[in-house]
Amino acid sequence: MASLSPQKQRDFAFQVVRKLQDGGFIAFWAGGCVRDQLLGRTPKDYDVATNARPDQIRHLFRRHKTLAVGAAFGTITVVGPRGAGQVEVTTFRQDAEYSDGRHPDRVWFTSAQEDAQRRDFTINGLFYDPVQQEYIDYVGGREDIQRGQIRAIGDPQQRFHEDKLRMLRAVRFAAELGFTVEPATFQAIAQMADQILQVSAERIAGEMQRLLTAPFRGEGVRLLAASGLACPLLPEILTPHTNQPRPELERTLQLLERLQEPSFALVLAALLAGLCTARQVIAIGRRWRLSNQVMERAAWLVEHHEVLRQAAGQPWSKLQPILIHPGASELLALMEAKSQLGWAAAEDIQFCRAKLALPPEVLNPPPLITGDDLNQLGIPQGPIYKKILDQVRADQLDGIIQSADQALQLASRIAHNEANP
Ligand code: ATP
Ligand code: MG
Repeated sequence: MASLSPQKQRDFAFQVVRKLQDGGFIAFWAGGCVRDQLLGRTPKDYDVATNARPDQIRHLFRRHKTLAVGAAFGTITVVGPRGAGQVEVTTFRQDAEYSDGRHPDRVWFTSAQEDAQRRDFTINGLFYDPVQQEYIDYVGGREDIQRGQIRAIGDPQQRFHEDKLRMLRAVRFAAELGFTVEPATFQAIAQMADQILQVSAERIAGEMQRLLTAPFRGEGVRLLAASGLACPLLPEILTPHTNQPRPELERTLQLLERLQEPSFALVLAALLAGLCTARQVIAIGRRWRLSNQVMERAAWLVEHHEVLRQAAGQPWSKLQPILIHPGASELLALMEAKSQLGWAAAEDIQFCRAKLALPPEVLNPPPLITGDDLNQLGIPQGPIYKKILDQVRADQLDGIIQSADQALQLASRIAHNEANP
């Protein structure tokens, strides 16, 4: 998608509301964008709530491109001009039973007031009329935004019973906004935390990603542990049987909070490096059905999180493969955070950064010989090829050999020694 301009998004979202109102309908901005505006944050996108029905919305916006994928739930997506993104226009609705704990079985169309009641948290239950510049607050959302708390709308147990994911969303919003979770809401999570596993792995992973990369991620993890959600989701951070946070966790969370706009893989690694093996990280990745890319990167970082220690004293053949790995910059970011806490030496980072600044042909010179050369030497193919090429590469990087001739001699010697042990 073309890059979005916050001003164009806002202007377009304003026009969508005005057009609906000019057509005789009630229309407001709703949910996250209203919350973000009150917090002085730039909304990621705008949602509009209206009493117009999906077919009326489509008709009104017939000159625009509209998408009707969500029409069964009352949502028509109106596509804006370049840079303005798209606005989801949803008819005021009430949700019926959630028999699968995820989707309402059916929805019916109602008033703005009832629409506010179906939303998850009071901070997400606000409307704003951008034409009149007026907030419409049926749920006490403004007060909770001011207090900085996440409170379920209505009875928290019932709301979490309808959709278990809301329990994790509560903690995720706390981590994103630096809010607390209101006591009754928190208590309901503590009582129902085990049921979070009824939610699909993908939805859990999506929330975990946002929680762990959020500005208040350390507090988010503390809340996961304190609320009981960590027990089904991330038992690796808890002491077995007591389910109390592991003693090392507090230190780890300091590190987590130091990371600057980290990738998901990097936070996962920072969180798990002191607590788990790389294999356990892969197991967590499978559990959450993370992409191979994220899972393998996190595992690689955990496996190598200590190897840049005393970088200058290490053989270059050991350090170089790590520095040319695509995860190297995240590994250095992890080191950077550690060094801020006094857990890693700034010299090690400087040394690695200086190496990374070398011209590519110096940092990663082409190999002196390949498997073809071994073949021409008459060495029978087999696992020995890797052994020879690895040794040749290490000696090349360490400056022990410089030419293809020397490499071939070394290769012959290794092959000879293998054949005549
Ligand atoms: P962000 O987009 O920053 O995550 P948001 O509040 O816009 O925050 P969305 O997931 O985009 O979150 O949802 C839009 C609105 O829909 C929310 O503000 C909330 O009112 C409502 N909502 C979303 N998910 C749920 C849910 N699981 N249960 C009840 N209401 C929900
Ligand atoms: Mg949103």
